[in-house]
Amino acid sequence: MSSNSFKVEHRYLELPDSFYTRVQPTPLKDARMVCFNHDLAREMGFHSRNPEEWTGVGAGTELLEGMDPVAMKYTGHQFGMYNPELGDGRGLLLWETVGPDGRRWDWHLKGAGMTPYSRFGDGKAVLRSTIREYLCSEAMAALGIRTTRALFMVSAKDPVRRESIETAAALMRVAQSHIRFGHFEFAAHHEGEEALKTLVEHVIALHFPHLIDLPEDERYQRWFVEVVERTGRLVADWQAVGFCHGVMNSDNMSIIGDTFDYGPYAFLDEFDAGYICNHTDQGGRYAYNRQPNTGFVNCQYLANALLPVMNEDDVRRGLRRYEVAYNERFLQNMRDKLGLALEDESDLSLIMDTFSMLHEHHVDYTLFFRGLSNLTSKGSAPIRDLFVDRSVADEWLERYERRLQSETRAHDEREFQMRRVNPKYILRNYLAQQVILEAQGGDYKPMKELLEVLKKPFDEQPEFEEYAAPPPDWGKHLNISCSS
Ligand code: AMP
Ligand code: MG
Ligand code: MG
Repeated sequence: MSSNSFKVEHRYLELPDSFYTRVQPTPLKDARMVCFNHDLAREMGFHSRNPEEWTGVGAGTELLEGMDPVAMKYTGHQFGMYNPELGDGRGLLLWETVGPDGRRWDWHLKGAGMTPYSRFGDGKAVLRSTIREYLCSEAMAALGIRTTRALFMVSAKDPVRRESIETAAALMRVAQSHIRFGHFEFAAHHEGEEALKTLVEHVIALHFPHLIDLPEDERYQRWFVEVVERTGRLVADWQAVGFCHGVMNSDNMSIIGDTFDYGPYAFLDEFDAGYICNHTDQGGRYAYNRQPNTGFVNCQYLANALLPVMNEDDVRRGLRRYEVAYNERFLQNMRDKLGLALEDESDLSLIMDTFSMLHEHHVDYTLFFRGLSNLTSKGSAPIRDLFVDRSVADEWLERYERRLQSETRAHDEREFQMRRVNPKYILRNYLAQQVILEAQGGDYKPMKELLEVLKKPFDEQPEFEEYAAPPPDWGKHLNISCSS
């Protein structure tokens, strides 16, 4: 059985009643445990020899002592339009636990049934999207990018209507916090100053404790700066790894700067600056190259919500930190990817020209940088082979090697470090698609194997070479449905 060394809390319930509604989960039929994250459980302060003992909790048929499920109320801007009707429409916050290391974890059961905020939805999550979220959040964590996590998932027999009939599943999503920018928009636009203050203080107390003792003005100012900076840095991390979020609505922006809500996301295969992964996003509002600006727009929505409790100059000054934090992090990320330890004035133009070249020649983003990380050991062939016109690669490589001459690190040392930031394995859409099809047929082994590979994205894993391959033709332009 489980042995737990976490404390149970539910501090979210300290917020005013309007921030949540108590809801009991809707039971799923014949649920079975699909995947349980033992490593994460350990980090959270517990251990389960038999994951099946958690099936009932995942299926919504069992609550442990201390669990008090609530649907959180928030609002937010979706595709630029304010929507006051949002909230947890199919997920419930069950409790919070605090591990032996003092880290706090929200347990959020996604796929737990209808809530007062379900609007037109059925409160369910399908197997396909639950697997996608499980795989991607764990892949992101392994890449070192801030993210919500997947603790376990169950699948069930209940039919769920999407474009076709699918089956239900549920994910136990955990994170230090599930509070979104949209929570602040709700407080500011519907609840008033007192509620807003309570929410800000709550978030600071739980997640920014180093600010608690500052005088109020400074506390709010410093906190806002940190939120803005975390957001900028997060998006810079996405850009550097080629991750497209797909639904950067303000209700999907975590107040602690985690990647939040894995819907129609994608990792770039061939580099395409304007890539739109969400096929319902016809205008390309959330295209890959618009993510940095969208992160800023979301910070503006947050800023606007904070105006009742912060002075305008502080808010304005805080917002300016976005671009600084984004640029700094992005430049650092790209230097690391290129293996440039020393700074040279020409680096920014090298980086920009590299992106232009990758875009123009449809080069596989991940393979290109991984190839560069093995340039001296494996030669230039793996890179040249990514180009139809090899002379483009040759010209670029010449420029790159000239730049490397001013570096002082030994080649093998540089490339060793580069292999720690340029993943060999990313969650390509076609890989996800393959394991989903197997899982829908009842075989979860391929999903688990892929998951294990993605947990070590920087390692050479010769026995899993095929997972590093670019997509076959059928997998290049998969239409990833937004419905989940
Ligand atoms: P998303 O686009 O995934 O960020 O979802 C936006 C909102 O719709 C959130 O408030 C979700 O809780 C809600 N939602 C999404 N899918 C469903 C569903 N199947 N049933 C009820 N609510 C849903
Ligand atoms: Mg969402
Ligand atoms: Mg979603």
